[in-house]
Order: sequence, then C-alpha cells, then structure tokens
Amino acid sequence: MAKQIQAIRGMNDILPSQTPLWQQLENSIRELTASYGYSEIRTPIVESTDLFKRSIGEVTDIVEKEMYTFDDRNGDSLTLRPEGTASTVRAGNQHGLLYNQEQRLWYMGQMFRHERPQKGRYRQFHQFGVEVYGIATPDIDAEVLLMSARLWQKMGLTEYVNLEINTLGDSEERATYREALVAYLEQHIDALDDDSKRRLHSNPLRVLDSKSESTQAVVDNAPKLIDFLGEETKAHFEGVCARLDAAGIQYKINPKLVRGLDYYNRTVFEWVTHSLGAQGTVLAGGRYDGLVAQLGGKPTPAVGFASGMERLVLLLEELQQAQTSAAVDVYVAAMGEPAAIQASLIAENIREQLPQLKVMTHCGGGNFKKQMKRADKSGAQVALILGEDELAAKQVVIKPLRNEQPQQTIPMDELAQYLSQYCQ
Ligand code: ATP
Ligand code: MG
Repeated sequence: MAKQIQAIRGMNDILPSQTPLWQQLENSIRELTASYGYSEIRTPIVESTDLFKRSIGEVTDIVEKEMYTFDDRNGDSLTLRPEGTASTVRAGNQHGLLYNQEQRLWYMGQMFRHERPQKGRYRQFHQFGVEVYGIATPDIDAEVLLMSARLWQKMGLTEYVNLEINTLGDSEERATYREALVAYLEQHIDALDDDSKRRLHSNPLRVLDSKSESTQAVVDNAPKLIDFLGEETKAHFEGVCARLDAAGIQYKINPKLVRGLDYYNRTVFEWVTHSLGAQGTVLAGGRYDGLVAQLGGKPTPAVGFASGMERLVLLLEELQQAQTSAAVDVYVAAMGEPAAIQASLIAENIREQLPQLKVMTHCGGGNFKKQMKRADKSGAQVALILGEDELAAKQVVIKPLRNEQPQQTIPMDELAQYLSQYCQ
C-alpha cells in the first residue's frame, strides 16, 4: 500500500463531527459584530515580511521565532500572517479607509505561528478580532470590552472567564518609565532568566510578564508604570473603568499585563480562563494609536482585540455548552427505480418549499432494512418512504424515527404542509 501523507504538525483538520461547534461559534461572532454595527474585512493570508517586522516589533516572540517566512519565486520575502491587526492597518491605509474616518471592523480566519504544538497552541489556528479606527476616547475601548463580554454571555461562558486590564501609558511616559525600569533591573541582573537578560535593553517591559520565578521576585519590587502616568492617560483609563463598572463587568487591574506585541499604548486587556490549563488567554487586545502612522498612514487612533477560536471551541467542548442540531431532518428512501426517480423530485420539492429543512436522499440502492439503517444514522426525525404502490397512489409513507408514533400514509401534495412541523 502507498504510504499515507499526514497533515503538518500543529496544523489540524477540523472534522465533520467538530464543524457544528465551529459553525455555532462563527454564527455567534457574526451576530455579535452585526449587533454593534461592525463591518467585516478579509485580507490575504500572505503579506510582505516587512509588514509584520515593522508592526509587531523585531524583539517579540512572533518576529524572533514564530513566523512562517519564505522567499517566493521572485525572491521577495513573504510571511504567512501570524495575526490580523497588521494586515487590517495595511489594507486600511492602502484603500484610504482610515484617515479622518471612523471604521469599526471585524475579521475571522487562519493565522500561522511556528510554536511548540500543545493543547490550545497550534501552528495554524484561527482568530476572530475587531479593530476600530478614528476614535481616541475611552468609550470605544469600553465598547469592545462590552462586546467581548456579550460574546461570553451568548456562548454561556461568562462564569468561566475573567477580565484583566492595565494601561501602558503613552510613548513618552513609557520611555521615562523604561529608563527607571532598566536602571532597577540592571541592579538585579544576576537574578534574571536568560530571555529577560537579553530583553533588558531591547524590550524591558516584557521582563514584567516573564514566567520565570526568580525574575518575578525581582519584578515584584520594580518601579510601577502607573506612577509615571500623566493626567490625561490616567483619565482615559478611569474612563474605561467607569464604563465597565456601570455595565457591571468585573475586572482586575493587573499592573504586570504588558502584552507580547510592541504596538500597544494606553489600555491593554486579556480575558483569561482557568478551565484550559496553561493556555488560558482566550481574548486579548488594547489600544494602538501609533501603528497606523508607523505603517505609513496619517496618525489615527485605534483599538482592537483578537480571540483564539480553538481555545473557545476547547472551552465549549469541555463545558459541554454546545447545542448543535443534527445535520439532517428528513431522510427520503425509495424502493425500485421508478420510485427512486420520483423520490428525488419529492426531495427537491421539499427543499424548494421548506428551505429551512435539511433533506437527505438515499443513494446507492439496497433493500428496505439497509435504507432504514442509513436513515437512522443520519439523525433525521422522519423517513419518507416511497414504493411502487405509493407511487401509483400518489402517496408517501412517513415513518417517525425518534419516537414511538406509528407510521402513516399521506397524499404527496400534503407533504409540505405535514413537514412544516419540523421547521424550527
Ligand atoms: P500567548 O501568550 O498564549 O502566546 P499571545 O500573546 O501570543 O498569546 P496574541 O498574539 O495576543 O497571543 O493572540 C491573541 C489570541 O490568539 C491569544 O490570546 C490566543 O487565544 C490566541 N493564540 C495565539 N497564539 C495561538 C496559537 N499558537 N494557537 C492557538 N491560539 C493562539
Ligand atoms: Mg504567543
């Protein structure tokens, strides 16, 4: 036998048994974003490598070690997108959507990062995200947070996720803080882990969220960014918090939350669950007022978030919150060639008259017993059975599959009327 080819490690098939849950999540996301007046944007999966280097930052996990980068046949360096924000800004700039305008956008799709695959962490994964441009005030930061809270509510996840927020200040405030932080960390350099030593001068804020215990012990006494903030940034943060309070959304202010990407300023946040083990962050984002200009556009305030859809699906599976319906409502069986031809027309007619119903026609012939076995396996509520006698009498047998009710014979032209009871 020929050797079977396997999928790439960390890149998963989503099988027919899993797609109903994915569709449920995707539908909730479409409903959610529509109910806030957001428009969908779709960007290519491949972009210039420079786009991600310039936006995400050279000294970040993604750019340092996680990108799928390759030269195409022209020798241009291309990268499979590791996240959605950079592409959205690139598209917004390129098509003139951002300057002097307000845009509320959302996207959903595959992302690629060369990480060590484990539960909740893959090399191809899916994110859904929102990005808002042209609004500098805290009301919009709060809006995207309220929106994420509503998604949890829709999916029955509210009690399993917690919100952490922080403010990173503006770039001047962060620069002053950075000096103070570096000066402090230099005094304790021997206690830092290797990654943190390396980042001490290139990206010292990332030292704050290091996972190493000895580094965390140093960080506990480090200067706090909040003490370096000016009135305006403080007021912005208070504006966000006041709106969360008013909406009754609970949150924890976490001064060590700095996020892994360079482009954030002011508000940053993460929704975290304890039900998934180490990979607990299910949605993360913040404000990134500098990025549009950094990528060649006019200065434009921006805020957004991205959510890892595999982690949400895992969470839904674990909590068994999924309420998905069977793939089929009605199974159409027929005995003999003339009846089979008529049965397929009857099925077409039902699809025409009751488009909500899921109708599967038996194919491949076989005896009554075999056809009823298939009908049962399909998950259908009822089977329609057409034999020579029924064909001659213009009737059809209806056999309930999920309860003890007796089967009955009805005229073909009353079929649609009868089946309408199975439309939800
Ligand atoms: P982490 O700390 O878990 O690596 P991150 O900071 O790299 O996360 P972001 O770039 O903020 O993650 O991406 C937003 C969300 O996308 C994450 O919170 C997570 O839910 C999801 N995500 C990120 N990387 C992966 C991955 N490799 N596989 C599955 N989901 C992921
Ligand atoms: Mg990561």
